[in-house]
Amino acid sequence: MSTYKSPWVNEELEIFRKSVRQFFEEEFQPHQEKWRGQHHVDRDAWEKAGAMGILLTDVPEEYGGGGGNFAYEAVVIEELAKSGINFGTQIQSIVAHYILTYGSEDQKRRWLPALAKGEMVAALAMTEPAAGSDVQSIRTTAIRKGDEYLINGSKTFITNGYHADLVCLAAKTDPSLTGSKGTSLVMIETRDLPGYRVGRTLEKLGQHDQDTCELFFDDVRVPASNLVGSEEGKGFAQMMQQLPYERTLVAIAAVAAMERAIEITVKHAKDRKMFGKTLFDLQNTRFKLAECRTEAQIGRVFLDHCIERVIDGTLDTATASMAKYWLTDKQCQIADECLQLHGGYGYTTEYEIAHIWADARVQRIYAGANEVMKELVARSL
Ligand SMILES: Cc1cc2nc3c(=O)[nH]c(=O)nc-3n(C[C@H](O)[C@H](O)[C@H](O)COP(=O)(O)OP(=O)(O)OC[C@H]3O[C@@H](n4cnc5c(N)ncnc54)[C@H](O)[C@@H]3O)c2cc1C
Repeated sequence: MSTYKSPWVNEELEIFRKSVRQFFEEEFQPHQEKWRGQHHVDRDAWEKAGAMGILLTDVPEEYGGGGGNFAYEAVVIEELAKSGINFGTQIQSIVAHYILTYGSEDQKRRWLPALAKGEMVAALAMTEPAAGSDVQSIRTTAIRKGDEYLINGSKTFITNGYHADLVCLAAKTDPSLTGSKGTSLVMIETRDLPGYRVGRTLEKLGQHDQDTCELFFDDVRVPASNLVGSEEGKGFAQMMQQLPYERTLVAIAAVAAMERAIEITVKHAKDRKMFGKTLFDLQNTRFKLAECRTEAQIGRVFLDHCIERVIDGTLDTATASMAKYWLTDKQCQIADECLQLHGGYGYTTEYEIAHIWADARVQRIYAGANEVMKELVARSL
């Protein structure tokens, strides 16, 4: 066993971790098969998570949050990844941080406590069918008409879209401007909202318990006061500033998943008998697992550096991009090596490693494809 201990973890966080782990084991894991079948979690999972205090852990208490720092978010995401549950709490946190950082006092008081309790579920809607990596090409419009915005367009691949009551929407408030200009973030309260429609829940390779939806906006009207920030046209800059937070959450899940993959594979290899010994006794297995463990630990040390930088507010875009790209690439490589060591069993969905492998793949694509991450790193050179 490695004696390495993450420097940001203290006794209080260990106690929190224990209760979060127990909560996922008792309240979420028994429902996972059902959630995978229906392609979304049950709505009451959100209220349970809110009551347990695992939503918005790093939002100040005065807005209903947990009042902790980013370390609490890190613990929740790690435990989620280790439990194998795909539950969109990271999107809830990301949207909360847009409101917290750029929102008006009224917006903070209206939405943050409801998000913390799980009474509202949040989605972040940037991607469109013709604009994924190229976010600047979005076509959804939010045009100011008196004291309202008139919204038209569509979004795709939206996590939490199925239950979302509050959508943080990236739209063009001035379509005459090209590139990053003229883009704003507008909050949409979706309940009973005329013109708003949730489309298909997409069938995916993995993460079956997490919904990924299409959203449609046809002449949707929302109050002009739902603009995020005090003036239009700041949306692109706001997204760029918040992305290191989102990318660190993805990187945290990556390291936790690789650690879990190694843990269960070591156990499998020690139990599996072959050629008069165990799978673990074969030198190839020992070397492969030694390599995986070494790389996971290198990843962990770099991740811990990033977590500490988020806590002290100094994580830069290039470093967050390095973490997102390198750690999710490594997650996929390690998941694949571990699946190989499970043999045919690893290819059956009865085995946890099959889910770890399938769930991992999208980590290299969403929150900015890894190629986009390398571009961002290259820009800093
Ligand atoms: C499960 C899932 C959940 C998602 N959740 C959300 C969500 O909640 N909200 C949201 O807004 N979006 C979400 N997305 C969308 C996700 O962010 C996009 O899929 C991603 O940004 C890539 O966009 P794209 O799919 O349009 O691929 P494209 O933009 O068509 O890119 C295809 C490929 O081109 C390559 N590429 C792209 N840009 C470059 C470049 N600059 N240099 C070199 N190569 C490049 C990469 O290999 C990339 O994978 C989700 C997607 C999935 C699959």
